[in-house]
Amino acid sequence: MTWTISRNELSQQELLNLESLFSLANGYIGVRGNFEEGYGSEMNSIRGTYLNAFHDITEINYGEKLYAFPETQQKLVNNIDAQTIEIYFEEERFSLFEGEVISFERFLYLDKGYTERVITYKTKKGQQVKLRFRRLVSFYIRELFAIELTIEPVDFEGTVKIVSTVDGDVSNYVSRNDPRVSAGHANLLSVENVGYDENMMFVVDKTGTSNLETACATKHQLSIGSNKVVGEVDVKEKSIDVTYSFELTESITLTKYNVYTDTLRHENDLIKKGKAIQEGLATIDFNTLIDEQKQYLDEYWQVADIKIGGEENLQEGIRFNLYHLLQSAGRDKYSNIAAKGLSGEGYEGHFFWDTEIYMIPVFLLTKPDLARSLILYRYSILDGARTRAKEMGHKKGALFPWRTISGSECSAYFPAGTAQYHISADIAYSTIQYYLVTKDDDFMIHYGAELLIETARLWIDMGHYHQDTFRIDEVTGPDEYTCLVNNNYYTNVMAKHNLKWASIAWNLVIGKDKIASEILKERLGILGNEAQEWELASEKMYLPYDSELDINPQDDTFLKKDVWDLKNTPKEKFPLLLHYHPLTLYRYQVCKQADTVLAHFLLEDHQSYDTIKNSYDYYEKITTHDSSLSSAVFSIMAAKVGYQEKAYDYFIESARLDLDNTHGNTKDGLHMANMGGTWMSILHGFGGVRVKETGITISPILPNQWTYYEFRVVYAQRQILVKVNKSGISLNLEKGEDLEMIVFDKKLTLTQRKEQTVDLAKVGEHNG
Ligand code: BGC
Repeated sequence: MTWTISRNELSQQELLNLESLFSLANGYIGVRGNFEEGYGSEMNSIRGTYLNAFHDITEINYGEKLYAFPETQQKLVNNIDAQTIEIYFEEERFSLFEGEVISFERFLYLDKGYTERVITYKTKKGQQVKLRFRRLVSFYIRELFAIELTIEPVDFEGTVKIVSTVDGDVSNYVSRNDPRVSAGHANLLSVENVGYDENMMFVVDKTGTSNLETACATKHQLSIGSNKVVGEVDVKEKSIDVTYSFELTESITLTKYNVYTDTLRHENDLIKKGKAIQEGLATIDFNTLIDEQKQYLDEYWQVADIKIGGEENLQEGIRFNLYHLLQSAGRDKYSNIAAKGLSGEGYEGHFFWDTEIYMIPVFLLTKPDLARSLILYRYSILDGARTRAKEMGHKKGALFPWRTISGSECSAYFPAGTAQYHISADIAYSTIQYYLVTKDDDFMIHYGAELLIETARLWIDMGHYHQDTFRIDEVTGPDEYTCLVNNNYYTNVMAKHNLKWASIAWNLVIGKDKIASEILKERLGILGNEAQEWELASEKMYLPYDSELDINPQDDTFLKKDVWDLKNTPKEKFPLLLHYHPLTLYRYQVCKQADTVLAHFLLEDHQSYDTIKNSYDYYEKITTHDSSLSSAVFSIMAAKVGYQEKAYDYFIESARLDLDNTHGNTKDGLHMANMGGTWMSILHGFGGVRVKETGITISPILPNQWTYYEFRVVYAQRQILVKVNKSGISLNLEKGEDLEMIVFDKKLTLTQRKEQTVDLAKVGEHNG
């Protein structure tokens, strides 16, 4: 059953969480798992439909606004609601909370790409009906969200009324007490047009400030026997509905096809566009759509699936996480992956460094085209990043926004926002990783090099030489409990890598495409000695090191601070960010999430194994993992430094974080970075996979709790199947030409149809 998530809880808190868990998306549309008929009258729901990157602009109100603080923010808009279908049995409104529910089951099919609710219901007169709701957001027809309702009269006799609505009067969810959720600006859309034309209902909405329009064009199909039933349409001021009334004598099926469009992607006449897409759907039925979902997912799972022997719970967790990652990834230049994907409104639909460091790695080794498209989104906002660098006082370079949708900085709290300059190096890092995995010269020549050069220029401008070392002051690393510091190890080492690769990429462009290099040189005004400047700064980059502890301090002053007393901090005070003023936290050695430990994973060759291990021991004691971005990294690094049990424990935390709501805020959306982290824990942690300049290496371990596991990687146009069990590892090249790879420090050449095996007993304890 590990391909099916099945839950039937109906408590208020669980329902909100399940709205996120059962959300459906295709990278463009996202719909929360709300009930078509609604909940009980006293119950809350976060009823949500989102179009990736479709946003409004809201003002940021500061008490004291200083220079270059962003004045506005983008915010993902809760879109037109097409989920509603109310059902009345002889005027008795169907609801799981008011009538008698004989049985209720709810499923999310990870292999088939749809959700289903199956209910047996008894009316007040004691008659039974069976209802089935199925819904999908099509992977093939990007604009389509479809619902199918089947009603079977078990022993019911009488009339049924179905009212299906498209509602333009929608608002966003707000919460005053949680900084991770928007505190205001609930009403972002106004209704522009509601109407009915050739069997198609439509609603057009407009944002207040960003001047974007969105439309939902909906058609229904209802047949009883061979007769098509025509409903009565009611066009209201802000919504439109259709009512069907009939005697229920046999099973009936109603299908609702909702086509979403918006003026970011579609031409201005959204109704016309909706109509054209609806016409294309005329010959398609719901079962065909379901078959297509399966085809799409078969292709994905063929590469992305990870099998674990021995633990169903974890197997379910991994698949669930990988499924939602695929659903959330934007596929065009306007969109990326929001921190909560398309499953909720936490972090206002913003894109963070989460994508580059936690999510792109998954696609890079399973679906590289998607990784490319996510990086190209960054390229599409590069101009904005150059402007931001200027605003921030830099003469050259690109400073990417800490959080954004359309490209400008949306962070109002600069110590844990704009100051996280590392995002620019993170984007550079993932550009480099993409190149190392794909060897895609075309990408490097036309996009990658420019990204690397512009980010490298930022470091040159903001850093400075002191005592023959290159230093970076006044930044915040990934750990948001330590802000505005000098020489954050993570930032410095990532910038070092960025600078080195700017030069490599620039030389690569010169070597591979003279004309392109001339054009780039001219356009970016690259000076004759600039590449040497990048190389020198990289070489001279100062990386904080404490010889007594043999660790890398997180920054220049970190080790001089008092250590936070985590042992005596009451449980209810976590996450600390909700209970202590930031300044209190900044004064202590206490980490919200992996910082130096993360740098040791991403760029492991800059320190000795011992320094990495000591650092792990040091930081583990002072890390709260209050951010969901932390556990997976500690799992990877525990595996590296030989703490197998710890690696396993952190992995469990990551694998089921949303399924078990361990952070208590799944209702606001799924934790997408953690979802990528789960996959990374297996591939990079237990599997020990690394991709570097020297090629691909692998050094797996098998957790004691598992009998085996297997995964695939796509690397340099090859596909490799890796199986690990108690006796050893087997490697199979499934696609592509012969490949040399390093397995536990030894070179192996893989050839198709020739399995290579390595005896685990013959390799050392750890894979460091
Ligand atoms: C983390 C950041 C992360 C953001 C969005 C914060 O809690 O500290 O690292 O980018 O959430 O996921």
